[in-house]
Amino acid sequence: PTYVASESRYEKMKYRRCGNSGLLLPMISLGLWHNFGHTDDFNKARQILRTAFDYGITHFDLANNYGPPYGAAEDNFGRIFKKDFKAYRDELIISSKAGWDMWPGPYGNFGSRKYLIASLDQSLKRMGLDYVDIFYHHRPDPDTPLEETMGALHHMVQQGKALYVGISQYNAEDTARAYDILKELGTPLLIHQPRYNMFDRWIEDGLLDVLGQKGIGSIAFSPLEQGILTNKYLKGLPEDSRAVKDARYLKSDQITPEVLDKVAKLNAIAESRNQSLAQMALAWVLRDEKITTVLVGVSRASQLLDNIQALDNVDFNADELQQIETILKA
Ligand code: NDP
Repeated sequence: PTYVASESRYEKMKYRRCGNSGLLLPMISLGLWHNFGHTDDFNKARQILRTAFDYGITHFDLANNYGPPYGAAEDNFGRIFKKDFKAYRDELIISSKAGWDMWPGPYGNFGSRKYLIASLDQSLKRMGLDYVDIFYHHRPDPDTPLEETMGALHHMVQQGKALYVGISQYNAEDTARAYDILKELGTPLLIHQPRYNMFDRWIEDGLLDVLGQKGIGSIAFSPLEQGILTNKYLKGLPEDSRAVKDARYLKSDQITPEVLDKVAKLNAIAESRNQSLAQMALAWVLRDEKITTVLVGVSRASQLLDNIQALDNVDFNADELQQIETILKA
């Protein structure tokens, strides 16, 4: 049946301004890294996207090599976009990236102008789009001059193939340099996409300051530590969990008794706040306003509904923050 978006889609979602820009992003965004490959269930993937948009999640995040195989997530997104979302293009913020391994030879990886520009053209074809809203350099490349990589991003904006540009996984110093180079060219650096969650706090050591000083927005990826920061692993390893069914990036041996001990203690605090641990973990990432949005993945629509409810309580009192700190530092 034809998809008609829920009329109430903008009633509950909250939006934050992305840095100093004109762009608002939903406080919860959806990533297509997992669950949108050719090995995944197409109808389930479609249902996840419909649910997201029905609840005001206007931002979908992709990359050239999300799959498996590489390109498959963009391909599947393109098929779903054509069926369900074409009429809503102007209500959506769609991002893609290049920077990691994509195709063979010297021009399918890292940060050259050659790679980035070719990759965006491929992504647009796979998704059936004329432009992406945000295009990212996916990771720093120490061997390519930053001027060349930022010049390529600027060029995409000039061409009208990307409306805004971002960087991912860059440290504080390179982020400041990237911002300066782009500013000189006349293209603002809209957004940084770092990994950030209760168990991975590297951005607190310098990067957040740079984002604040320069007015760059941010989108925190893996805010649930790929699912570890939920209650799902507290009673063993569920068969349908990422750690069991997809060992590419989350290995079951990462879920140690020490980790689970912390998760159980965090879960108790979440319960005292009348939240699920997933909800509290997202709220915790959002406690700093410099985080524009949390970028979650979900393997089913029900997880998304759980996560959206995090926005019902994003405030922490000093005591809760201190208790969480004590657990994380133990
Ligand atoms: P999360 O930390 O949100 O982990 C997602 C996984 O957590 C889900 O697949 C699901 O696992 C589990 N989960 C989610 N919600 C719930 C819930 N309410 N209850 C129980 N379990 C839940 O994020 P990801 O690691 O998936 O990353 C999110 C996005 O970030 C990616 O899709 C991508 O867009 C981006 N990203 C960017 C990177 C970069 O380098 N820039 C790198 C990595 C990701 P299960 O499958 O077990 O059900």
